[in-house]
Amino acid sequence: MPLLPPVGRLAPTPSGLLHLGNALAFGAAWLSARGAGGRVLLRVEDLDRGRARDLVADAQRADLRWLGLDWDAEVTPQSRRAYPIDAIPTYRCTCNRAARLARLCTCRAARHAEGVWRYRTPPGEVAFVDRARGPCRVAPEDDPVVMRADGEAAYPLAVVVDDARDGVTEVVRGADLLDATAVQVRLYEAMGLVPPTWLHVPVLLGPDGRKLSKSHGSTGIGALRDAGYTPERIWSLLLPLLGLPPGPLEHARLDPARIPPGPFVVGEDGRIRS
Ligand SMILES: [Zn+2]
Repeated sequence: MPLLPPVGRLAPTPSGLLHLGNALAFGAAWLSARGAGGRVLLRVEDLDRGRARDLVADAQRADLRWLGLDWDAEVTPQSRRAYPIDAIPTYRCTCNRAARLARLCTCRAARHAEGVWRYRTPPGEVAFVDRARGPCRVAPEDDPVVMRADGEAAYPLAVVVDDARDGVTEVVRGADLLDATAVQVRLYEAMGLVPPTWLHVPVLLGPDGRKLSKSHGSTGIGALRDAGYTPERIWSLLLPLLGLPPGPLEHARLDPARIPPGPFVVGEDGRIRS
């Protein structure tokens, strides 16, 4: 089989401005594809629509460009695509989150005419290979919602359909999505699609030990830029977290085998430690 150049993607969710954790994952995705002579796609994962989302997505594009992360094409955002679920086994579930967590849901055996659509996940662990961690075996935690009660697609389905439709051959993202990968591998199987390769990079935590989010405002790319940081300085902070020497992004050569598992903590003083 001829070895074709990879197709990677940057898939920001416009729920908040980009922070250092996003930059780390997007930087790794960009390095992986570009380092192998591949293409990079940008896809805005805006399943929840709205004007505010458009503004956030614009700001994210500006942050990505400022960081030196470019893309060859921007593909259709999720809000303008359709996601049929006829091909996969589903059932409708009327339970709230608390009932699911308490394992009180019996909807799998019912035939509800309302509620969200959940994927009927086959039992057992899912095996896949992570390019940094090697062989992984993960048991999906729950049957994921693939369509909301109002007929809107949910993320686990949309991301699989999109990556297949966009011809994405490698997914590079934060290690917090390792569990989600198990479900996504199952969805690829159910739809008869070839899954991409997987690479999960360290997650960044705030001083409070929680995953970086918009509540950790000082780690926002915009906030750092306003504080006088250059893209070079940000990459010098982030590249060592991928097992690379500090330096400009364009000189970096990603080696998945050297990526540490993480997570890393961004302290109050802005320093990053494991
Ligand atoms: Zn239920």
